[in-house]
Amino acid sequence: MGLGSFFKRNKKQKEEIEEESHIDINIDECDGCEKCIIACPNNVLVLVDEKSSVNNSFGCKRCKVCMAICPNECINVN
Ligand code: SF4
Ligand code: SF4
Repeated sequence: MGLGSFFKRNKKQKEEIEEESHIDINIDECDGCEKCIIACPNNVLVLVDEKSSVNNSFGCKRCKVCMAICPNECINVN
């Protein structure tokens, strides 16, 4: 891998991280009930290590159903 592709890859990763930032999940409060995962109409969320996690932020339509259904108020969608 050349230096150019190294920087290009890092830029891509940075963009993906920034894209994900509109969904905040407070994993300290998440008990892994999966309600948000089941409720999301766009399959954005998945369970990872018993915690809700963003799998596909591009699929999120910001409907905020996940926020509404979480019993622990640990999701925030901007
Ligand atoms: S805001 Fe809607 S589309 Fe986005 S993760 Fe939550 S339920 Fe899914
Ligand atoms: S609904 Fe809330 S507590 Fe349940 S898995 Fe989703 S984020 Fe965690």
